[in-house]
Amino acid sequence: MNFYNILKYWDIHDILEITRDKKIKPFTDTNNLRRHAEQQLTQQHLTLSDIEADAKKLLHELQVHQIELKMQNEALLIAQAEVEANLKRYTELYDMAPVGYLTLGRDGTIHQINLKAAKQLGLFRAQLKQQRFSIFISADSLSVFNDFLSGVFAGKTAQSCELTLLPLERCPTLIVQIEAIANDDDQTCRVILVDITERKGNEEQLELANLVYQAIGEAIMVADADNRIVTVNPAFTELTGYTLQEAVGCSTTLLKSGHQNEGFYQIMWHALETTGHWQGEIWNRRKNGETYLEWLTINTVYDDQNNVRHRVAMFSDITDQKHAEQTIWQQANFDSLTGLPNRHMFYERLAQEMKKSQRMGLPLALLFLDLDHFKDVNDTLGHGKGDLLLKEMAQRLLNCVRSTDTVARLGGDEFTIILPELHEQDSIERLAQDILCQLTKPFELAGEVAYVSVSIGITLYPEDTDNIDVLIKNADQAMYAAKDQGRNRRHYFTISMQEAALTRMRLINDLHDALAERQFRLAYQPIVELTTGAIRKAEALIRWQHPTCGLISPAEFIPVAEATGMIIDIGEWVFREAAQQTAQWRTEHYDDFQISINKSPVQFQKEGNGHLAWFDHLRELGMPGQSIVVEITEGLLMDAGALITGQLLAFRDAGIQVSLDDFGTGYSSLSYLQKFDIDYIKIDQSFTRNLSPTANDLALCEAIIVMAHKLAIKVIAEGIETQEQCDLLTAAGCDYGQGYLFSRPVSADEFNKLLVAERH
Ligand code: C2E
Ligand code: MG
Ligand code: MG
Repeated sequence: MNFYNILKYWDIHDILEITRDKKIKPFTDTNNLRRHAEQQLTQQHLTLSDIEADAKKLLHELQVHQIELKMQNEALLIAQAEVEANLKRYTELYDMAPVGYLTLGRDGTIHQINLKAAKQLGLFRAQLKQQRFSIFISADSLSVFNDFLSGVFAGKTAQSCELTLLPLERCPTLIVQIEAIANDDDQTCRVILVDITERKGNEEQLELANLVYQAIGEAIMVADADNRIVTVNPAFTELTGYTLQEAVGCSTTLLKSGHQNEGFYQIMWHALETTGHWQGEIWNRRKNGETYLEWLTINTVYDDQNNVRHRVAMFSDITDQKHAEQTIWQQANFDSLTGLPNRHMFYERLAQEMKKSQRMGLPLALLFLDLDHFKDVNDTLGHGKGDLLLKEMAQRLLNCVRSTDTVARLGGDEFTIILPELHEQDSIERLAQDILCQLTKPFELAGEVAYVSVSIGITLYPEDTDNIDVLIKNADQAMYAAKDQGRNRRHYFTISMQEAALTRMRLINDLHDALAERQFRLAYQPIVELTTGAIRKAEALIRWQHPTCGLISPAEFIPVAEATGMIIDIGEWVFREAAQQTAQWRTEHYDDFQISINKSPVQFQKEGNGHLAWFDHLRELGMPGQSIVVEITEGLLMDAGALITGQLLAFRDAGIQVSLDDFGTGYSSLSYLQKFDIDYIKIDQSFTRNLSPTANDLALCEAIIVMAHKLAIKVIAEGIETQEQCDLLTAAGCDYGQGYLFSRPVSADEFNKLLVAERH
């Protein structure tokens, strides 16, 4: 049978159906087709002629269909290629996606994984297939994951959770967000894995920053580019009184106190606009109107185009701190009693003024003032009154000077005045005289009246020196010169004074070694009984044999030894040396032989119980107190407090006698003589020197002698050089004489010869 006839009666749709369903290419499985066609023909009782009539038509239709099918086939091929390309693209996308993709089984086994996820887990993909995903999950996150996975398979909706992954070595810990949805097979699920480690870190940082912002003690105010407050922190509210709600939206001038002028703000804004930064102190105002000082730091935040986005102001209240600082500064620089600059401040001002003086080419003067006998005021009226006097003194000094001058108190009763910009030196003299005059006026001290005077030393910069320390020293030296010349006066510094000071300094240095180097010796000068000529007494006088300068007079070095305190050790040496020598002469010559030892007021003041050691020493030598006479000066009695009185009485009780040296030169007060139980007075050699039968001094000497005898005090005349003087004094009733007429002060050996000679 003809193949085409068969086909004629087969519905073309059937053919297409077959080819589609059975995947049979059209016209290829002819056996089947024929069988099918024959069946149809048989059923319909058709003749072959009928069939042939339609054959041509059918053939044509078939040809058309064939072409159609061809075209459809081509379209199918194209579609298939497209699907394959899409699949490839999808696979590539899947593999290369920047997020991790996985397919997990119900038990968490990894079925599929993309490159990103494999990388996140730190392994190659091949190593990960069929691994349990849970092995990469931190212990903390494990239960979260298990619940998550069950949730995924239980519901149809996507689930998500956060996990901490612990990938293999060398890979950092990850925090991931995973999202999953079950596949239709309900055996696997698709998982997306996003690394949120950095985001989490940022979030934590932000949280921390916010915490700091909220908790920090410093007030913070953030403003926008238009200076409108954007936010403030709680410390801001606490400090200023404005809440966040009140502050936000306001201008930053909200806190302005008006204490700063426009210039201040101009400088601030200039800095902010040029550098974006400003820092400094500023007075601002709280909500309650109170002003306070703050330490303010402003920083600027810029956007990408470098436009101002925000200004961040941080500040703290430093009002109390400032007050404390000011108090400390005040205490460190000013004298609390008088309110005048203290030594520290004085030094600074002087340095400043010296610089200014140098710049301007105008000299300055430095005055050093020391009250005369201020100690007496303190001792007699008490320290309270002494303080009042110093305050009044400060006031009087301030009244004498110009506003540009500096009056300072260095301590005690020492004051200084800096006179800068001296156009004429006369002004120094005028000021000095004015001060001297002002201070002679009585001081009214709460019911008491006191009189003082002042000694002023003056030095000039740059004339005398250009060194600040030397300048101060000069003024100090000049002040001492004023004191030496009788106080209540001014004295200018001179070069010779400086030389004297230098010598004095060398003297001090050398004096330090003199005792250890055994450079001291004692000279003895006889004190002769005028009526008999007998030598039963001597005065021990110290001598310093300086290794290079030769013999130095005690008049020169004793004041230095007193000023430096070295007199204590020296005096001790004198006493022991003299006592030792006297012990010898008492045994060898006269057992009533007596030695006079000069004792400085400084020894009395500084030694305290030093006299007890003397008593012990005398006991050791087996000598009675009567073998010693202590020579003191009137000044000692003038200033005598309980300490000195006690020592003098202790001497008396021990049998040691007391002689008042240089009588007539000081205060020569009779009441002292009685009060302190003086045994001898020594008429000063200045009286003896001028003695003549007609001189006033003779009358004076006679009066002293009579008066002393009335008080049962013996009199020794010092400095007898001539027989006439000796005769006059003897006639006046003087008991003893001392002077070159009898003997100069001589060495122990020489003195011994005198004693030997006397006995024969
Ligand atoms: P002073 O206690 O008044 O001693 C008497 C001074 O007059 C001695 O001077 C003596 O050498 C001197 N002199 C004695 N006779 C004559 C004379 O006829 N004519 C003249 N022009 N002078 C005479 P010197 O030894 O230079 O002592 C001076 C002062 O030094 C003493 O005066 C005394 O105040 C002090 N001094 C001496 N030795 C010591 C000592 O060991 N300790 C203390 N603290 N002071 C001492
Ligand atoms: Mg003496
Ligand atoms: Mg004397």
